[in-house]
Amino acid sequence: MPVKRTHAKALARLEARGLPRRDFLKICTAAAATFGLSRLIVVDRVAWAVGAAASKPPVLWLEGQDCAGCTVSFAGSLHPPTMQILLETISLRYHETLMAAAGRQAEAAYRAAVEQGGHVLVVEGSVPGADDRFCRIGGRLFREILEEAAAGAVVVIAVGACASYGGIPNATVTRGLGMDQALPGKTVVNLPTCPVHVEHLVGTLLHFLATGKPPALDSLGRPVAYFSTLIHDNCRRRGAFENGQFLTDWNDPKQKDWCLLHRGCKGPYTFADCPARKWDDGINFCIDCGAGCMGCAEPGFYDEMSPLFEG
Ligand code: SF4
Ligand code: SF4
Repeated sequence: MPVKRTHAKALARLEARGLPRRDFLKICTAAAATFGLSRLIVVDRVAWAVGAAASKPPVLWLEGQDCAGCTVSFAGSLHPPTMQILLETISLRYHETLMAAAGRQAEAAYRAAVEQGGHVLVVEGSVPGADDRFCRIGGRLFREILEEAAAGAVVVIAVGACASYGGIPNATVTRGLGMDQALPGKTVVNLPTCPVHVEHLVGTLLHFLATGKPPALDSLGRPVAYFSTLIHDNCRRRGAFENGQFLTDWNDPKQKDWCLLHRGCKGPYTFADCPARKWDDGINFCIDCGAGCMGCAEPGFYDEMSPLFEG
């Protein structure tokens, strides 16, 4: 596919940093196919953003009641070209864990981005529902910081189960809330799973970059492209389920491929693309490595999904 001559510099820059043109086209094509967009438009807009240093979408990443697991998922991607495209196409202005700046310098970066507005706000972790005092950052209430940062944001992306629906903190005394509840009236894209899948985040940001709007969402605010299939319908143990072969003894080699329903698997009521996409660059996912699905892509995670495992 021909890439405009005006993008040649941008692609050469990526190539110099170890991202071959072929990989660039592959990643853009995958994002286009996932969302049913024109490949031409995605390649064009992403290449343009790589070259347009001054107009990269500013991104602010806040952390509330979280474990930083989504940050680890994001930063620990095993597929550097994907990350490279992301970091070349956005301007990550503020991220408490990853930014080199600290203290006043970090606060100044945050303040400048908030005052400028027009940013993408990524939120990791929940906001306390029981009492705002459970979560403070630099002496300020997290809810106050969140509302301030969300005010000028063009879109809010909730990464992980906690920011989406409250997650594990919702099961604690803090009664953590997701962004839909914490920021009524804002457009929130929920990317649940615990932690966020880096490809879900990259794809959502590339969609935003290519079209200026979030991808189509389901009734729970999740991109349809990632969360419309039932784990149970795509599970390789489904044959065993149909044959009534349910694992009862972890130590019996005969049962190693049997259905995990009686061991607590939540696959029959969890919508996510884990069986097809898998994790860690397509290496494996929960059920294929012998653990039942915990339902981490659903609003009921963690409380309603407990116990996560049985037997
Ligand atoms: S292991 Fe879980 S998802 Fe797979 S067939 Fe059994 S119940 Fe369904
Ligand atoms: S298989 Fe289930 S528990 Fe595992 S990541 Fe996917 S939705 Fe979460």
